[in-house]
Amino acid sequence: MIQPDKVKAAAKKKENENFRFRSFLKGHADEKKLDSQFLRLHKELFAGYDCSKCRNCCKMYKGSIPEEDFEKDAEHLGITPEQFVDFFLEKDNYGGYQTKHRPCDFLQEDGECKLGDCRPESCKNYPYTDQPERLWSLLSVLDTVEVCPVAFEIYERLKDEYGFRRNR
Ligand code: SF4
Ligand code: SF4
Repeated sequence: MIQPDKVKAAAKKKENENFRFRSFLKGHADEKKLDSQFLRLHKELFAGYDCSKCRNCCKMYKGSIPEEDFEKDAEHLGITPEQFVDFFLEKDNYGGYQTKHRPCDFLQEDGECKLGDCRPESCKNYPYTDQPERLWSLLSVLDTVEVCPVAFEIYERLKDEYGFRRNR
């Protein structure tokens, strides 16, 4: 597996190839089969991976915090929802809220999230490689390939499974 600090540069180097593979999948892949391939590789590769040693997703993005989480997040931190927003959040460009800083303000030195189990669903589900309808979300997959070592590896293995390198 690629080291977390190498993934961005490696994905940049493969940018054209990765985009070509996306087009290849659009033209050749069966939606259900592709989902099952993503899911199998996701389970296999995350099973042996310690995300606390990486945390690229928390370092490279600001955390997106849904408004419906404010109350439980504030309670978890022992502050009021108003203080929670005031201390940690700002408006994003889509009318929602995000943390003020990148790396995310809730990332601790030990690699854990200060929000614990209250962290947003979008964080729990990242990099979404076990979610359905990957064929229609390949641009978002390309984004995660630049951040997440496991997503990077999944995409490389899919190229092998489709014989992409040999055929192009
Ligand atoms: S989900 Fe991916 S980017 Fe986030 S910590 Fe785990 S391996 Fe790293
Ligand atoms: S809220 Fe927690 S899990 Fe989500 S980006 Fe911030 S530190 Fe990471």
